[in-house]
Amino acid sequence: MSKNTNKNLIKTEEQIEGIAASGAILNRALGRLQKAAKEGVKLSFLDKLAYDLITDEGGVPSFLHYRPEGASEPYPASICASVNNIVVHGIPRDYVLRAHDVLKLDLGVNLDGYFSDSATTVFVGDEKEMPKEIKRLIDGTKIALEEAIKVSIIGNSLGDIGWAIEKTANKFKLSIAEGLSGHGVGLAVHEDPFVWNFGNPKTGMKLREGMVLAIEPMFALGEGEIVSLSDGSYATEDGSIAAHFEHTISISKSGPVILT
Ligand code: MG
Ligand code: MG
Repeated sequence: MSKNTNKNLIKTEEQIEGIAASGAILNRALGRLQKAAKEGVKLSFLDKLAYDLITDEGGVPSFLHYRPEGASEPYPASICASVNNIVVHGIPRDYVLRAHDVLKLDLGVNLDGYFSDSATTVFVGDEKEMPKEIKRLIDGTKIALEEAIKVSIIGNSLGDIGWAIEKTANKFKLSIAEGLSGHGVGLAVHEDPFVWNFGNPKTGMKLREGMVLAIEPMFALGEGEIVSLSDGSYATEDGSIAAHFEHTISISKSGPVILT
């Protein structure tokens, strides 16, 4: 999945500025998609919207035609749109959104060779009708990302990020989607290192100034076992609903900086 890009582990100030510019385009597009994700909307419409929004600003959707190691064919869309029990890599085709769907939107932007990656989870329909357990799922996953970002400081390690996420999953009584992780990013869609959603404090690679990471907790209401479907998407094995939040961040002297 990731090339050996150790030489790119530490980004220059100029590179981080480029990734931030890429992330700004991504952030605007994701905000617009979130608003457009309403009952009755086809996923392929959101995909087209994302393509237009990103390319209008001079970016390229980095998932489009991307072929991860081991994949049989390149990815056919600009976004991943994963509904309910689908955790990630859902392909936006003819599915029409229904009230109370839990939609994960995942987006990558390449701006002049600088890559950013971010995801969010949307509850389709009236938020007042959100079932309590769905609120627990979405809030818990979002807070896990916030907690992980808080500990993304120089001198801490990847284990601290993993532990912050794992601790939050436990607190909200949620399962961590197994086998899926965050990653380095910035000069390619996926770079080293893996950023796991579990871990032990003070273990693993030390965080250093200039690292750029995509941190992405993925939690499920049921068990955490994941199965790979024939279209390349990943679903919970027990059919339970999943949530996903992701930001691209950089590690700086003054603390973590969210680039998306
Ligand atoms: Mg992503
Ligand atoms: Mg990612």
